[in-house]
Amino acid sequence: MPEESKRNEKQLSKSEETYKLILDNANDLITIINENLIYEYINEKAYFDLLGYNKEDIIGKTPLTPLHPDDVKKATKVLRDGFKYGEGRDEMRLRHKDGHYVWFEHKGKSFIDTNGKRKSIIISRDITERKKAEQKSRESEEKYRLISENANDLIFILDQNLKIKYVNEKPLLNLTGYSVDEIIGKRALNYIHLDDVEMALKIFTEAFNKEGHGTIDARVKHKKGHFIHVEINGSLFHNEKGQPRALLITRDITERKKAENVKNEEYKKLEELSEIKSESLLRASHELKTPLSSVYAASQLLLKNFNQQLGEDGLKLIEIIYRGSQKLRHLIANMLDVSRLKSNELNLNLNEENLVEIINNCINDLKLWADKRNLILKADLPEKSILRVDKIKVEQVLINLLSNAIKYTPPNGKILINLNVSENYIEISIKDTGIGLTKKEKELLFQKFGKSIRVYNGSDIETGGSGLGLYISKEIVELHNGKILVESKGRNMGSTFIVKLPRSI
Ligand code: ADP
Repeated sequence: MPEESKRNEKQLSKSEETYKLILDNANDLITIINENLIYEYINEKAYFDLLGYNKEDIIGKTPLTPLHPDDVKKATKVLRDGFKYGEGRDEMRLRHKDGHYVWFEHKGKSFIDTNGKRKSIIISRDITERKKAEQKSRESEEKYRLISENANDLIFILDQNLKIKYVNEKPLLNLTGYSVDEIIGKRALNYIHLDDVEMALKIFTEAFNKEGHGTIDARVKHKKGHFIHVEINGSLFHNEKGQPRALLITRDITERKKAENVKNEEYKKLEELSEIKSESLLRASHELKTPLSSVYAASQLLLKNFNQQLGEDGLKLIEIIYRGSQKLRHLIANMLDVSRLKSNELNLNLNEENLVEIINNCINDLKLWADKRNLILKADLPEKSILRVDKIKVEQVLINLLSNAIKYTPPNGKILINLNVSENYIEISIKDTGIGLTKKEKELLFQKFGKSIRVYNGSDIETGGSGLGLYISKEIVELHNGKILVESKGRNMGSTFIVKLPRSI
């Protein structure tokens, strides 16, 4: 043998050795079969590791033997294609020596060996993990499909062109009368009421653009032409190909809408009624105001200038008329102001006024009543205190607070009125030794009709009242940018109401 040929042979056997080493240590199964479909070579280590077979178990046999019976047909085709077209590929199960099956992806390629014989080399990769993952995803897909098909809500999936890619059949039919085939691939907006399209479009595109989710109320078209009120909850997700999709869960809210309409109508009716009530109250109060002022002024005049002529009985009767008309006057003033407040018409007429004079006027007005109830009404006031206020309104507040102090203080009690000037505020306080307020009662004060329901334990106090006095007083003080506060240590511990008016309004 010539030297060169010897060297070539040596090189060849060297490279064969290398290939053998690779084949023996490969992780995939490597198989060579002949045209009669008989095993001629296997990489034993991989075969043993993956399927538990030795060479003796395999060589000379046909590769169809360890196949799963369901895959034999497929395998025959792949092997034939391998020989016919040069290559073939498919996924099939092979039986492990211990009996269980393992999934492989097989790739076959035919070649001519050194003896001119056609053979096929098959490389088989263990794909158990991939199969498991696929099975898992199939199961979860199946689970979601089941949930969706049995849901009461209508579930849509839209693509980015807002075309319907999926919809659950039963709810679709129940809610809209359409079948799946009729709407798959159509634009979702075709089924939305024209007036709601713009909003729906906005929310769908926003969901796609901002990767968010949102809810809208819209009307969807029934096959018969009428519309159904639905609530659509949309969320964005990405399908297995990474394409954005909108998942829309659509709920029939016809009943809710009906209930809302009834509620709105009832509310409107109530508002109208309340309007009529306020209007009537306002008118009645106006009508009452003038004649009542005459009764009040006349009885006041009689008491002041004709008390000698009236005699004791007459005086008593006139006093009753005077007191009654005085109370009614305050009540009407409060009622008129509540109406004005409601219609935002409570405006202030601000002027420089002497608060001391206002307080004294109020005290004079109520002195007779306080005397009757055997209460001491004492004022500790500076000579004058000028502030820009609405005189009539501030008078109203003070009358309300003083009346309360008189009403809610049992006989022999004391009411003290003070005026203090601090850096920013003028504070008028009205302190009584009356029935006081519990913590709970304090919380309810200043509300409209905040009249507290309580047991007076036989205290000799007056219980009549509209429950509007403190509410209106607070509003008036706040219109002056002031504050009204209350202090009381509890039942029968007296109360102090403080009106704080800012020195610059
Ligand atoms: P009313 O017309 O009932 O007096 P107000 O709004 O003036 O209405 O007062 C609300 C409630 O606050 C009263 O019903 C009373 O229970 C309580 N209240 C007000 N002032 C006093 C006070 N000086 N002492 C004790 N309770 C008071």
